Amino acid sequence: MNRTMSRREALRNLALGAGTLLVAGAAGAAATEAAKPAAAGGPLPHVTPADPTAMALAYHDSAATVDATKFPTYKPEQKCTTCLQLTGKAGDPWRPCNLFPGKLVNADGWCKVWVKKA
Ligand code: SF4
Repeated sequence: MNRTMSRREALRNLALGAGTLLVAGAAGAAATEAAKPAAAGGPLPHVTPADPTAMALAYHDSAATVDATKFPTYKPEQKCTTCLQLTGKAGDPWRPCNLFPGKLVNADGWCKVWVKKA
């Protein structure tokens, strides 16, 4: 069974193939962006209170939630934005901290090694 493809069939197959490639390309690009590691320019992950370093330093996403009876060194004016260790761009809600390399802390957070910014 050897038959030649009509011009109409050839054009239809070409259109179907191009559509499939476009969909596959878009899906692949989205997956690549989501999987891009932070070192390659992707967003840095946020520190969570369950992170081992965060647990060791009693990191809180919000300084307002710190129990001053449990952490007597805590004072209400202490939060990441007033800490020497916070870097990054002022005004960003999540910023790098020297104690959590490769991750971002909440600008309104706090941990027990807070040091007043000069
Ligand atoms: S060291 Fe400072 S900036 Fe870093 S988490 Fe602790 S309080 Fe926030």
